Amino acid sequence: MISVTNISKSFGEGAKRIQVLDNFSADFERGKITSIIGGSGSGKSTVLRHLIGAYKPDSGKIIIDGEDITKMNNEQMNEVRKKFGILFQSGALFNSMTVEDNVALPLREHTELPMSTIKIMVTMKLEMVGLRGCEHLKPAQLSGGMLKRIALARAISLDPKIVFYDEPSAGLDPISIGVIDKLMIDLSRKMGITSIVVTHELPSAMRISDKIIMLFKGKIIAEGNPEEIRNSQDSRVLQFINGSPDGPIPFSKSQKDYGEELKEMSLY
Ligand code: ADP
Ligand code: MG
Repeated sequence: MISVTNISKSFGEGAKRIQVLDNFSADFERGKITSIIGGSGSGKSTVLRHLIGAYKPDSGKIIIDGEDITKMNNEQMNEVRKKFGILFQSGALFNSMTVEDNVALPLREHTELPMSTIKIMVTMKLEMVGLRGCEHLKPAQLSGGMLKRIALARAISLDPKIVFYDEPSAGLDPISIGVIDKLMIDLSRKMGITSIVVTHELPSAMRISDKIIMLFKGKIIAEGNPEEIRNSQDSRVLQFINGSPDGPIPFSKSQKDYGEELKEMSLY
């Protein structure tokens, strides 16, 4: 479904220039769940932003459903984006709107369907995430896990072929993480949705993934099914699996400041 060949990306100029992705290549198989894992600052979100066309690589190709998106202008990219659903880390629901209106938003924007049909479709999506009956609630009345599920209902409202998940379990309790994991698996297995998950939650990635790609400083250091990752002898992979502070991956800070975080959020 998605094939990435040798993409590289640097930010900044001169001495401040940092290479965030270094010849990254990967295939994301149709109908499967592929997770990208790695420590903070390893380049996971940067990969995701390239896949959704928010960033253009300095070099390399990104083929989605047969088309190279690196050559596309905004208008062409918007057409491709209709195949996507994106579950943002923040959820990004509108607090002033009901659950029903939030989930209906993409249907109102991108289709000409009558309101009565849209209502039925919204109910179906809410049923899929196990929250039928919540139509008239406002986001403030829902728990973190429920908000994520509503955001997921919205992400799949246009029946996308591909769903991108950015840190879907961030900030959730273990039970809610389990619920989201199961939903991701169901969408993949029952609906054939191609899923790309960016996460630093290794246990979750182990449960849901058909394939795991592990990033370290913008390079792939391990790739395979959960069993293969678990059996890896690479010291960097072992450190990540064991969560140990000492090892080849330094105990480090994010290089970001808040200005950059804000800039990032507006890119979605
Ligand atoms: P992760 O999601 O794995 O935590 P990111 O992909 O967000 O990592 O970031 C990897 C590195 O790229 C970080 O050092 C970050 O500061 C840098 N980076 C990402 N986007 C930009 C940008 N737009 N401008 C400058 N640096 C960036
Ligand atoms: Mg990130």
